[in-house]
Amino acid sequence: MRAECHVPQITLETHSTIIIGAGLTGLSCAYHIGHDYLIVEKEDEPGGVVRTHIRGKEFGGFACDGTGHWLHLRSKEMKELIPALLPGGLVEYERKAVIHLAECFTPYPFQANTYGLPREIVLDCMLGLMKARHPEDFGLPLPVNEPRNFREGVERLFGEGICRHFMVPYNEKLLGVKLEEISATYATRFIPRPSLEDVIKGALGFSREALGYNAKFVYPREGGISAVPKALAASLKSPVQYGVSATAVDLKKKTVTLSDGTIATYRHLLNTMPLVSFLRMLGEQLPKEIRDAAEKLRATTVWYFDIGVRGKGAAESNHHWIYFPEPEFIFYRVGSYSAVHSDSSPAGCRSYYVEMSGGLGDFLERPEELKARVIEDLRKSRVLDDKDEVLFMELCSIPHAYVIFDEHYEAARQTVVDWLDSHNILTQGRWGGWNYGGMEDALLEGRAAAQKISGNP
Ligand SMILES: Cc1cc2nc3c(=O)[nH]c(=O)nc-3n(C[C@H](O)[C@H](O)[C@H](O)COP(=O)(O)OP(=O)(O)OC[C@H]3O[C@@H](n4cnc5c(N)ncnc54)[C@H](O)[C@@H]3O)c2cc1C
Repeated sequence: MRAECHVPQITLETHSTIIIGAGLTGLSCAYHIGHDYLIVEKEDEPGGVVRTHIRGKEFGGFACDGTGHWLHLRSKEMKELIPALLPGGLVEYERKAVIHLAECFTPYPFQANTYGLPREIVLDCMLGLMKARHPEDFGLPLPVNEPRNFREGVERLFGEGICRHFMVPYNEKLLGVKLEEISATYATRFIPRPSLEDVIKGALGFSREALGYNAKFVYPREGGISAVPKALAASLKSPVQYGVSATAVDLKKKTVTLSDGTIATYRHLLNTMPLVSFLRMLGEQLPKEIRDAAEKLRATTVWYFDIGVRGKGAAESNHHWIYFPEPEFIFYRVGSYSAVHSDSSPAGCRSYYVEMSGGLGDFLERPEELKARVIEDLRKSRVLDDKDEVLFMELCSIPHAYVIFDEHYEAARQTVVDWLDSHNILTQGRWGGWNYGGMEDALLEGRAAAQKISGNP
């Protein structure tokens, strides 16, 4: 019997711009270009990582966003555009985030909230900070060089104690590498830098204003975080082609081959799929210099459980998210969708995302043991109590979730980006641009790509 084999019909199309991927970056580019583009998405809906999945349908349905996706809008354009696109608008929340350390919960950011922790830890943190900010008072030399890596950078800013108890273990758990490997400029925008006064008040328990870029955040009133990409997609003049993957790019002919058999010609190409996968697709067309640079691009995969629970839970279960720097907990962060918007879970239930990275080892081959360990750690930290009934646990992953900003990163990325640019290919977004940024950055990068393509920067 002959196996039936489906050979896609080849069609030829010409577009001024082809956009690979309908995540926020690709959608924003299409929205801002407005005409004469083709946008293809391998999945059957828009949003990429920014999507809401309904889990535990047999228990009434839990809306889970693929780990917490909270919007932090800084730019005027996005503050206007996003609410205007959403029929229900946005709701603003004040962050309720804490760190779990030495069996205590202390508010985020750690560096300004050590009150209530064991006195030895508070002393370590305060003395370390004083030494870092005023080394001469302790007979220590003033640093003469710029910090050589992220570890030195945070030690200069916050001192040895804050780094030892939180900054170093938390970030190493998250990234799965030593902080000496990470460059000093990594994530600087995202790290709150309290004044000495804030730190002292924070150690003595005075109430202070919330600090950091995410002290408040917004979230769609209806439809979960998916509402944002869905609204953007619905507003496009040429609709997204769903279930269609880019499978090959011919740099000389300037064509993209699609999984439906189309060969489409472009003048401009915007890539938003992970840069390393896009380069792999170019195969033999990559010169050695670019292949070598591509090999230096590293990233960490995040694994997470979406969990649905029936029960009231203790006060600790109601934080928006909790950081876990200590190695005895398998996760680095636990957040709760239902603590932010209670409608996301059925009545009497709660939902969580439990994030793990690096160091999972062969646990991944023993999913039942991994589940048991996660539940044990959630109970140990009082996020779950003994009366809570776990309804479902769904394990998912975000490949390349955190790009590793090591000593090779800057030069390797720039080499690749410049080479692609010389072929009229832009590569943007968190993974297309191989960078670290939030949803607003993706939207702004998509817009910047549209401006560049339209010759209107
Ligand atoms: C753990 C974690 C938590 C986060 N939390 C927040 C948060 O709270 N707030 C915030 O602002 N940001 C957050 N972010 C960042 C946010 O997820 C990203 O900024 C955003 O998703 C980037 O969108 P993108 O369009 O660049 O990429 P993607 O969402 O990855 O979009 C790329 C698209 O390309 C498609 N694609 C891939 N290959 C192909 C192909 N061959 N052909 C066609 N299509 C293809 C994919 O399916 C996808 O839809 C978080 C990120 C992570 C990892």
